[in-house]
Amino acid sequence: MGVFEAIGSHSHERVIAGYDPATGLKAFIAIYSTELGPALGGTRLYGYPNSEAALNDALRLSRAMALKASAAGLSLGGGKAVIIGDRSITSEDFWRAYGRLVDSLGGAYITAEDVGTTTADMAIIAQETKWVTGRATEDDGRGDPSPVTARGVLRAMMATSKHLWDRDSMHGCRVAVQGVGKVGSALVRELVNAGAEVVIADIVPDSAAALVEELGVKAVSPEEILNQDCDILAPCSLGGSFSPETIPGLRCSAIVGAANNQLTSNEDADALAQRSILYVPDFIANAAGVIHVASELDGSDPSAKVESLYDAVLRILERATTDNVTPHEAAVRFAEDRILREGDGTTFRTRDGER
Ligand code: NAD
Repeated sequence: MGVFEAIGSHSHERVIAGYDPATGLKAFIAIYSTELGPALGGTRLYGYPNSEAALNDALRLSRAMALKASAAGLSLGGGKAVIIGDRSITSEDFWRAYGRLVDSLGGAYITAEDVGTTTADMAIIAQETKWVTGRATEDDGRGDPSPVTARGVLRAMMATSKHLWDRDSMHGCRVAVQGVGKVGSALVRELVNAGAEVVIADIVPDSAAALVEELGVKAVSPEEILNQDCDILAPCSLGGSFSPETIPGLRCSAIVGAANNQLTSNEDADALAQRSILYVPDFIANAAGVIHVASELDGSDPSAKVESLYDAVLRILERATTDNVTPHEAAVRFAEDRILREGDGTTFRTRDGER
């Protein structure tokens, strides 16, 4: 598919390419929608094999950001930037050139850190544009969103427990956590405080061992974690945990976790439903991260919005039951409906191309 066909097929509002030969900057910024507000989304620095792969990632991720912001009740649209390369090509001049590219959009796109970029990069970008968030506390930002993301995942788990077992409390709930990095470790602390029985795994053995020692949780190998007999499985590592290879071996009742892109394809949502495993879509369960980053923009307290993820998850699960669709499909409808209802009516189209 050609570049313009790719952009057109996803109904994006605007896509720009930026090239700065002096610093080697090669970037795409994709704005999916600004109907609810400026398009917020991180900047990903990654060694894409070619520019088509980079563009496609920007198109896919910016739509996901629009749905995430809408479902989280934020007055923000969705966007995403991708830069082709790795850390070896970065420099202060490089980030400044990128900051000027972001600034050229006049606030239609607001950037933040993502895979491959850091809060320190955002501080340099901020010297060229005010349209940047997700900065460190010493740079007047709100700092690492991970503990807040973990709190949101816990709220999503509580709603799931209410929906499935008519109980809010996590006391005695058996939870398996895959990956105990920044979000996973904070989640394990929340779960242990709430009285859950937790089993963990990480490919870095020391990360798991530290939590076993600190909290007395059980650790298993990374190969075993997806097959634990548990109530809730929480993927908090990288994406792609659930695929035709892994779904048959799952022994959980529900999946609620922080990782982005947990499914390898939309068909996996159907496969999980066929196995009666309730899957709370990643872009709902991990939305507290974007709520936290967005709060830096207007100085608001994100707590109420984070806590209200409980209600959002309950509504989505109820809608899935009423509409007889998967929670993934219900979540997409929930997010699209809000843009249609509250957006300014200029550019957004549903997947069916309708308004
Ligand atoms: P992180 O890098 O700090 O933690 C990931 C952890 O997973 C690491 O400890 C890593 O060793 C482990 N891991 C990797 N592969 C594994 C495997 N196969 N089995 C077990 N462990 C494995 O990242 P993070 O910031 O905690 O984010 C975790 C996930 O949540 C990512 O997918 C991220 O995109 C998503 N997310 C994070 C935030 C946030 O606030 N940090 C917000 C929204 C979404």
